[in-house]
Amino acid sequence: MVKDDGLIRGLATRCVHAGEELDAQGGIHAPLYNHSTFGFHSTADLLDVVEGRKEGNLYTRYGLNPTIRSLERKLADLENGEAAFAFSSGMAAEAATFLAHLKTDDHIVCIGDVYGGTYELLGTNLPGLGIETTFLLANEAASLASALTERTKMVFFETPTNPTLDVIDIAAVARVAKSVGALTVVDNTFATPVNQNPLDLGADLVVHSATKYLGGHSDLTGGAVIGPKDLLEPIWLWRKNLGQMIAPEVAFLLSRSIRTLVVRVRAQNATALQVAEFLVAHPRVRRVNYPGLGGGPEVARKQMRGFGGMLSFVFDGGAMETAAVVDRLRIFSIAASLGGVESLATQPITTTHHGMSVEERARRGIVDGMVRLSCGLEDAVDLVGDLRHALS
Ligand code: PLP
Repeated sequence: MVKDDGLIRGLATRCVHAGEELDAQGGIHAPLYNHSTFGFHSTADLLDVVEGRKEGNLYTRYGLNPTIRSLERKLADLENGEAAFAFSSGMAAEAATFLAHLKTDDHIVCIGDVYGGTYELLGTNLPGLGIETTFLLANEAASLASALTERTKMVFFETPTNPTLDVIDIAAVARVAKSVGALTVVDNTFATPVNQNPLDLGADLVVHSATKYLGGHSDLTGGAVIGPKDLLEPIWLWRKNLGQMIAPEVAFLLSRSIRTLVVRVRAQNATALQVAEFLVAHPRVRRVNYPGLGGGPEVARKQMRGFGGMLSFVFDGGAMETAAVVDRLRIFSIAASLGGVESLATQPITTTHHGMSVEERARRGIVDGMVRLSCGLEDAVDLVGDLRHALS
């Protein structure tokens, strides 16, 4: 554990040390406490924790567990937030955020492509509670003001978007949302805190599917919300009463993974750029979506420190021919999800956007020949070789 001497440290140092605490046994990082409940020496001691006079451990579903609290301190630190809450999944984190900050007759604006589950939550679940969402395309972000009404309480988006990798200007959107008192909530799963910190750019809350880069090894499911304490408090209540708590074992595994986040993501940034540059030059590839190509669009350079391990391309062929390309890959696995050490490939029309209508997919440029790649930690030369063979 690094002693708190008031110095600001680099992100890699914070990934390793932030939130860590030695216990009585002196283990080198926060240990795993699987316990569901914690004991006290007296009723007065218990009441100090229950009534919030003292930080402490009480009951794991409440998040008052040392392993979970350590993880949450680390997450808050990496996103430059006041506090963080960890969840059983990214969807649990999003759902609690929507339920805590929206009520019947409220309105959300969702900009750009979002994960299919988020799209379903906004478009199918929330209307049942009288909460409506207007969906704007990423290239309509500049006309956000005209989509806002007096009922708009939240603007939600991912950047870069999935699977078209559009970059949305976080500071510009947050300014417009603030003008009508709406919260700006950014899903930072694709970028990670290594490449981008939305809270520094004016967002009110950040959500993550920790299942992806934060976990990084395709072996856990988790989520997080990070931001100021006053906005997190109502979210905590929903997490507690819906029982959406991350399990201590998963929290332990997630903290373990975050210690290597910076080295993993920087390597994935570099590999994705090499793969994108190979694909751009390939005669059977019509289009490559990667915000780092040619230095990236101005907004990406302004708000991102790196451009991520995700990219997509459009093959010069129909759905079946494109599936054949994907099926020829030997190192990339055919799988949904992203952000792990293994490289993954998927046709969005078969997985992430399978449930979206053909018309809506066409409106969003999610065509039959599109392939999304998540670059892992294999050698870039091997990934390029795999794609060269699959495309030939
Ligand atoms: N946000 C993004 C960008 C995602 O890609 C996903 C899942 O793929 C989610 C949220 C939902 O996360 P989870 O699967 O951990 O619930």
